[in-house]
Amino acid sequence: MAYLLEKHYQLPRSALLSRDDMSLNELALQEWEGIVSRRVGGEPIAYILGKKGFHNIELLVAPGVLIPRPETELLVDIALAEIAKLNKYTKVLDLGTGSGAIALAIANETPLASVIATDQSSEALAIAKQNSQLLNLHNQVAFAQGSWYEALDQQNQFDVIISNPPYIANQDPHLTIGDLRFEPSSALTDHASGLSCLEIIISGADMHLKSGGLIAVEHGFDQSEAVVKLMQATDLTDIHVHLDLAGHCRAVSGRKRP
Ligand code: GLN
Repeated sequence: MAYLLEKHYQLPRSALLSRDDMSLNELALQEWEGIVSRRVGGEPIAYILGKKGFHNIELLVAPGVLIPRPETELLVDIALAEIAKLNKYTKVLDLGTGSGAIALAIANETPLASVIATDQSSEALAIAKQNSQLLNLHNQVAFAQGSWYEALDQQNQFDVIISNPPYIANQDPHLTIGDLRFEPSSALTDHASGLSCLEIIISGADMHLKSGGLIAVEHGFDQSEAVVKLMQATDLTDIHVHLDLAGHCRAVSGRKRP
């Protein structure tokens, strides 16, 4: 609650503590009570505040987009390491961008990245575009609407493909608890085994990667073996499992053969 109070009234915690004689006027009190009842009803703090920090940027978020997670910063770091290694103008594709988090965090770190970010949802794309303007990254990040690779021209090939697709299985009980109850289900679950979007993204990588290009996808804590198999089945090489800061297998990367 202190966090909400701090953000809502734009006062640091120290000011809230030291000005304990400060009182709220009627309107401010009503406003505050509204915020408290939303939170008590379970609404995620990020939706109440309308923003969320991710990597080195802050993003506008609303119920039409997934709230960016700290573990997804792993994909940003994998992409940045690849761009640093290539050390040249790099074409990056972010599939299912939501708020634009991954695409914008990458562009924010390096002028070498030129990113196309896709999403099926027009609501998500509107928020992502707004974020690109606010962060002044609209010259580096372009947006395209459609389901995975369908948003692109067939001939369009990239040095790096990144995606955090919906990977929670249909009946997973996590979908009915905590923040997830308030987030768009299309960003969380594929309404199937959890692997169907990952399969589309991995199997399409060959057509949309340049030779030697890198793909990295986020997945559920227990899906890494299945994702490695999907990459092997598509004849990707140099396959690696990446751990998040909690020590869970959280992403797999692979390369198109040179
Ligand atoms: N990371 C989300 C979660 O575990 C799952 C959906 C996703 O990010 N692709 O809540």
